[in-house]
Amino acid sequence: MNIHEYQAKELLAKFGVPVPAGFAAMSVEEAVEASKKLPGPLYVVKAQIHAGGRGKGKFKELPAEAKGGVRLAKTEDEVRHAATEMLGNTLVTIQTGAAGKQVNRLYVTDGVDIAKEFYLALLVDRATGRVAFVVSTEGGMDIETVAHDTPEKIHTFDVDPATGFMPHHGRAVAKALGLEGDLAKQAQSLAGKVYNAFLGTDASQIEINPLAVTEDNKLMVLDAKVGFDSNSMFRHKDLMELRDETEEDPMELEASKYDLAYIKLDGDIGCMVNGAGLAMATMDIIKLNGMFPANFLDVGGGANKEKVTAAFKIILSDPAVKGILVNIFGGIMRCDIIAEGIVAAAKEVNLAVPLVVRLEGTNVQQGKDILANSGLAIVPANDLGDAAQKIVAEVKKVA
Ligand code: ADP
Ligand code: MG
Repeated sequence: MNIHEYQAKELLAKFGVPVPAGFAAMSVEEAVEASKKLPGPLYVVKAQIHAGGRGKGKFKELPAEAKGGVRLAKTEDEVRHAATEMLGNTLVTIQTGAAGKQVNRLYVTDGVDIAKEFYLALLVDRATGRVAFVVSTEGGMDIETVAHDTPEKIHTFDVDPATGFMPHHGRAVAKALGLEGDLAKQAQSLAGKVYNAFLGTDASQIEINPLAVTEDNKLMVLDAKVGFDSNSMFRHKDLMELRDETEEDPMELEASKYDLAYIKLDGDIGCMVNGAGLAMATMDIIKLNGMFPANFLDVGGGANKEKVTAAFKIILSDPAVKGILVNIFGGIMRCDIIAEGIVAAAKEVNLAVPLVVRLEGTNVQQGKDILANSGLAIVPANDLGDAAQKIVAEVKKVA
């Protein structure tokens, strides 16, 4: 789960990380009011979308020469003008894709006199299985370009979970940023606080870009992108409230309401499977037979009628789906119960594309009988290979 920049900064501030003052705004008037609460003389009006590259982004509805999604303003009128141009319009950045994202919230924040811009991120390094710092003096710009052109300017070091954050980690951050004296001390302290925020919120990433050195030698977070491990959200009810559902894929959102793990893909064959491993194997074998899966969908252990119906509806709401392959192993859940769920769901959604079902496990024969006697054109399959061949053949028959 991702959150907006202003939420990320409020969160980091709770852990003692220095951020400029600022207020979120949902309307032009709120933006103007927000600026009145700030000291000035420089304000920054920032579009809040779950994507970076806003500064260099372009609004679809505005002329090409109009400014992007991060704007400096010196007066109330300039704040008003920036807010009016941004709210309700669609911002396209290198991270949004061509469709862009509609701006519904703004952040009005203190303008800072920047001397230098750094990059500092914390993430889970899957190779070492540890939390890692990624630090570079080349902040402000696109870090992927730095990684590609000048990889030696990116420093990575991980933290042993047995010791946690140690003073030497802080010194390594300061050194990688080329800081000395008081700024080095600020960097050490900031690194420890960001680490605490990372662990304390079960974050999966905290990316600060830029981490700025101000003209008066203060280290400050000017932009922050924070994502959390969704599997830990049950113990962070307060963080769940930061969720902005308008930023999420509508189908994935619907799936999450039923506890279905759904990810949309580009192919033609809708898949409904229980267990992530079986889902991966099913996707592989569809590819082996010459077609591509339209989605990853794990209905989980308790695949009851309600879940199966929701899963069918989600798969079918994707116009690309030309056929469905159901591959379910009845372990705890019996095959006859699953078969009843599939039949009821298929009737409810008026299934109009070919459906191949492979069941295996407890009460498999009763399950197959229910499918065969349902009066629906369900094609039964005996094993994984058989199922994949049959759905590909059925879809090609219709085409
Ligand atoms: P994005 O990464 O989405 O483009 P940022 O928040 O990083 O958005 O803003 C882009 C640039 O705007 C920053 O690199 C920085 O130079 C400038 N900027 C952002 N916030 C401030 C601020 N509070 N004061 C001064 N400049 C800022
Ligand atoms: Mg940025």
